[in-house]
Amino acid sequence: MTQGKNAIVTGSTSGIGLGIAEALAGAGMNVMLNGFGDADEIEATRTGLEARHGVKVAYHGADMSKPEAIEDLVSSTAAGFGSVDVVVNNAGIQNVAPIEAFPTEKWDAILAINLSSAFHTTRLALPGMKERTWGRIVNIASAHGLVASPFKSAYVAAKHGMLGLTKTVALEAAEFGVTCNAICPGYVLTPLVETQIPDTAKARGISEEAVVRDVLLAAQATKQFVTVEQLGALAVFLCSDQAAQITGTALPVDGGWTAH
Ligand code: NAD
Repeated sequence: MTQGKNAIVTGSTSGIGLGIAEALAGAGMNVMLNGFGDADEIEATRTGLEARHGVKVAYHGADMSKPEAIEDLVSSTAAGFGSVDVVVNNAGIQNVAPIEAFPTEKWDAILAINLSSAFHTTRLALPGMKERTWGRIVNIASAHGLVASPFKSAYVAAKHGMLGLTKTVALEAAEFGVTCNAICPGYVLTPLVETQIPDTAKARGISEEAVVRDVLLAAQATKQFVTVEQLGALAVFLCSDQAAQITGTALPVDGGWTAH
């Protein structure tokens, strides 16, 4: 069922995307990696995945803020692998600042990378999925797609938008064997989170230790970070045939955060 399917995971050179790429490859899927980073490290990641899982792994460096680059990512994957069966829209960035000081170029970049990129991959990959009557679109939203936190206006807006996109695509694709769901992680200790700790400390005037304890994990009832392996396992399940009737959902993996 997932064996031999072809997947694109955007933003998979690091963090959650890399964890999901590892899990999909482990489930027998060929994976197109995407994201920024050191060329040698990316090549080592690519060959490591191939060696560990015996699948094809390629890399495309599309900047997900650029529609033409996304077109090339999707068409190159279809040409190289033969089809695009699974898209995991994961690429994302963050910026933490009060709204009146929020840099407008950061707003534009966050909306483009965290939201519009998913519109583009979906519009480009969906026709082939419908034609083959099988497809899976997994959008990595966030607990911030369900609830807000101060100082993250663009991110929260983009992630709430991601849930609207997820529901709409699910309805449009429902009779074609294609599902579209959003995973809403709580805090995962990735570079994206690590780098916002100093900014949050500055914005709130508190120490970095206090940011982890009193801000990041304050609402996460388990008081533990979510892991990329846990998110990878859910993504694999959503790609399985057992998940065929799960569509249009927003699935929190947040240690109880949004139960409050
Ligand atoms: P990360 O910074 O570790 O990884 C982000 C990835 O996106 C990297 O591969 C990076 O190269 C890539 N990327 C960034 N800008 C890009 C662009 N313009 N074009 C192509 N690739 C680009 O971050 P992460 O924590 O793994 O986050 C991944 C996703 O998960 C994001 O959408 C984020 O919003 C979401 N998320 C993260 C957390 C968390 O706590 N870490 C929680 C909920 C949701």
